Amino acid sequence: NPRIDDIKTKIRVVPNFPKPGIMFQDITTLLLDPKAFKDTIDLFVERYKDKNISVVAGIEARGFIFGPPIALAIGAKFVPLRKPRKLPGEVISEEYVLEYGRDCLEMHVGAVERSERALVVDDLVATGGTLCAAINLLERAGAEVVECACVIELPDLKGRERLKGKPLYILVEAH
Ligand code: 5GP
Repeated sequence: NPRIDDIKTKIRVVPNFPKPGIMFQDITTLLLDPKAFKDTIDLFVERYKDKNISVVAGIEARGFIFGPPIALAIGAKFVPLRKPRKLPGEVISEEYVLEYGRDCLEMHVGAVERSERALVVDDLVATGGTLCAAINLLERAGAEVVECACVIELPDLKGRERLKGKPLYILVEAH
């Protein structure tokens, strides 16, 4: 797929960021190329436009870049899943384990209704812990998670296996 091949070349790999030994996949260079950025959104829209999805849930922070244009194009609402203490209303929270320590995602109570069909969007899946927390939040609110969508997967970390059986769609694999 020539569009995906082009997207792959626009992702910059930054060694030793944010700490030694990490090869950081940087999507900001993809955003600098309007054609590759649009192709990225179009590939997701083509996949999800006729799937009866009413919620796109984007994970802070880079899920806020890819999620909203997808939501607008498929006629779905956008729901931000945020880091702790950012959302002003009543929230439900889901903690998850990181390599060192814990983190947490929050969602506004009332943002989704029971039996809504949801798509979870982020830029990258590594261990899958973040997507798993997002799935749990949506399911606790009664939504049905149809799929998770990311631009990049680090398949060596086997994050796909932590998604509670939900399908994962990605454009680019990075090793
Ligand atoms: P996981 O929970 O799957 O281990 O980590 C995924 C989360 O960490 C995502 O929210 C993603 O944005 C962030 N992340 C981890 N590694 C990278 C990386 O190399 N590049 C980018 N852009 N995000 C990363």
